[in-house]
Amino acid sequence: FTSVELTQACLDRIAQFDDRVGAFLYINAEGALETAAEADRRRAAGEDVHVLTGVPIALKDNIVTRGMPTTCASKILEGWLPPYDATVVERIKAAALPILGKTNLDEFAMGSSSEHSAFKLTHNPWDLDRVPGGSGGGSAAAVAAFFAPLALGSDTGGSIRQPAAVTGTVGAKPTYGNVSRYGLIAMASSMDQIGPVTRSVRDAAALQDLIGGYDFHDSTSQEALEKDLLGQVKATKVEDLKGLRVGIVKQLTGEGYAPAVSEHFEKTVQVLKDFGAEVSVVDCPAFDYAMPAYYLIMPAEVSSNLARFDGVRYGLRVEPEEGPVTVERVMEATRGAGFGHEVKRRILLGTFVLSAGQVDAYYGAAQKVRTLIQNDFDRAFEQVDVLISPTSPTTAFKLGEKESDPMAMYLNDVATVPANMSGVPGISIPNGVDDKGLPVGVQVLAPARQDALMYRVASLIE
Ligand code: GLN
Repeated sequence: FTSVELTQACLDRIAQFDDRVGAFLYINAEGALETAAEADRRRAAGEDVHVLTGVPIALKDNIVTRGMPTTCASKILEGWLPPYDATVVERIKAAALPILGKTNLDEFAMGSSSEHSAFKLTHNPWDLDRVPGGSGGGSAAAVAAFFAPLALGSDTGGSIRQPAAVTGTVGAKPTYGNVSRYGLIAMASSMDQIGPVTRSVRDAAALQDLIGGYDFHDSTSQEALEKDLLGQVKATKVEDLKGLRVGIVKQLTGEGYAPAVSEHFEKTVQVLKDFGAEVSVVDCPAFDYAMPAYYLIMPAEVSSNLARFDGVRYGLRVEPEEGPVTVERVMEATRGAGFGHEVKRRILLGTFVLSAGQVDAYYGAAQKVRTLIQNDFDRAFEQVDVLISPTSPTTAFKLGEKESDPMAMYLNDVATVPANMSGVPGISIPNGVDDKGLPVGVQVLAPARQDALMYRVASLIE
């Protein structure tokens, strides 16, 4: 296939079915075909191209793209055209991957079902009455529906891995600092990380090879210590499981997990044992407090990051209906009209936990829990090489089922949040289907900067 043929096939499929799935907020047909032609030209000329050159990709709509709308699925950014490309987008363009378009998400990446989008619902391609997970439900649905072979997501508390789990795709959150956040519209900066959504572990490794590595524009970015993740995955053999020390996180199994999720997890553990892995149960007591601590630290950072949407600098500007037009009143009217419920809830929570008099009791305490979680990971990785758990407590739930119950929605993140709190890499890979035919995911966690090990083990489970 040429890249033009492949890209056209993706665009045709999107045109035919996306009115039912709702994965895309914006489709970049012309631009994608131009890039595809350029990719074909480079290959035909025998130029030294990246392995993914010419392979179409979809981008979560909180990653900025020059001249292409970027909304974060929020009314407050409607009509805004970014003046620059995110570093990951620059790298994708430099390697001539056709960008198919921008995918739907929960507003500002806050949610676990994509239902908090201000613009549309995304349906799970496996069952259109169910959610595709969130916040990156659009990217996951696009890959699951064969609209795009590759996509990018962002993961602050699980928004790559949980949608991957419930759509039967592969989703990886790299080590914090491995992929530049420059041009990712910030949610909680100390945890946000861009990563791949794909149909295979090899594709994900290749995509991280392309987008990862040091970037001057991101002060937390690190030199990619591990180059050629794809090569390392390819060199992995099933014999490598012999003697591999695999830890089951005690706190991330058992009660609270759907029977089908637990059953498939147990089966995978058995297979690992059969191939010679040394499996043990590892105790991470602070993980029990990861959820409450995340839902204090994350909103604190959200309230600060989202202060920039003031009705002056970006997108929407709403003037007060009556009375004087002052900066404060424009800000109030714009933010009142532009942000949805969930975003407002988190800004309020965040400003509260940071306010004088509360900050030690809430934010300070949560930071201490964060340190305890990091200590648990350190101790765990002295005993084992990798940790595994189910990715998400349930398979895809029905649209509308949890939308008005924030606590029920937040509980989806219980297994994914610890990795964000400590910065370690995590990947979700498909792990069978439940009795309704809905995909189940299994998660592999590795020590910080050992993304190669994570991908290698994932490729063996896959
Ligand atoms: N579901 C989580 C939340 O709502 C994850 C968000 C994310 O990773 N962007 O905060």
